[in-house]
Amino acid sequence: MGTIIPILFQGAIPIFADVNNYGCVDPSSIKKLVNDKTYAIVPVHLFGMLVDLDPIMEVAEEKGIYVVEDCAQAYLAEYKGRYVGTIGHMAAFSLQQSKHITSGDGGITVTNDDELADRARLFADKGWDRSKGRKYVMLGMNYRMTELQGAVALAQLGKLKWVVERRRRLAERLNKYLEDLEEVTTLPINRDFKPSFWQYPIWLKMDKLKVSLEDFAKALRAEGIPCTPTYIGEPLYLKTPLKDRKTFKKSGFPLTDNPFHYPVEYYKGLCPNAEKLLNRMIVIPWNEKYTEEDVDDIYEAILKVIKYYRR
Ligand SMILES: *Cc1c(COP(=O)(O)O)cnc(C)c1O
Repeated sequence: MGTIIPILFQGAIPIFADVNNYGCVDPSSIKKLVNDKTYAIVPVHLFGMLVDLDPIMEVAEEKGIYVVEDCAQAYLAEYKGRYVGTIGHMAAFSLQQSKHITSGDGGITVTNDDELADRARLFADKGWDRSKGRKYVMLGMNYRMTELQGAVALAQLGKLKWVVERRRRLAERLNKYLEDLEEVTTLPINRDFKPSFWQYPIWLKMDKLKVSLEDFAKALRAEGIPCTPTYIGEPLYLKTPLKDRKTFKKSGFPLTDNPFHYPVEYYKGLCPNAEKLLNRMIVIPWNEKYTEEDVDDIYEAILKVIKYYRR
């Protein structure tokens, strides 16, 4: 919802494209949805896996629309040798407490475009153009970061490279172990795709196991491995604010009677691949402070549970 709520607060309508087998948006699904009312594409690098950005940038260029990368979970993830957040027109990183680095709460916006940078500053500072005295040039909230949080965030930046590299190295270890198990798939790590591993998701082939997703997760927890089945439960478009249009008082704005005259419908089955993926995924917390032995323990637990429930 961290991606979706800001869209609604701008009076814009989130349209959902379907995802690939790693939970990242599928460029061909975006192509089918872009129309003359589309303002921006917001790819989410989920778990720090990389969205295939090249074809998305192509569509954006062709249509003259913006690409805003959601890098909340993807600090220093690398797409074809480039850091995420440097490819789209703008990008946002989160400093909320569960992310790779944190200042308690808050975030970072990056762009290479001076005009967009000026707009971002106004947006976060009540639309106050400080170069012109007490002049308010647009509607904006107070999203200013405090000096204290800024100082903490700057100090955190110093360890970021180590954090991401260490998480990736540990993930590589577990990937290698799990490679031979046909019941599980993991996020790939290769030359073009270097994920940041905010967490470590696995996807189960349920037809090869005689157990429900819930019970599989329960068994893993019983082995001492904390984990969450389905990640977010139902897909975002079935969450109350969207499905039941619980937005601004009783207006349903911008999902009802919007000035764009754009009919919007959120329903089960809207993004079939996303729904299928959620129903077979388990998220394992990941951390740079894990030892190699911790990773081995996680593997042993997964192996034990799979062996027990194997068809
Ligand atoms: C954490 C997160 C956000 C929102 O971050 P906040 O700093 O909590 O607003 C947005 N998108 C994704 C994918 C996230 O994980």
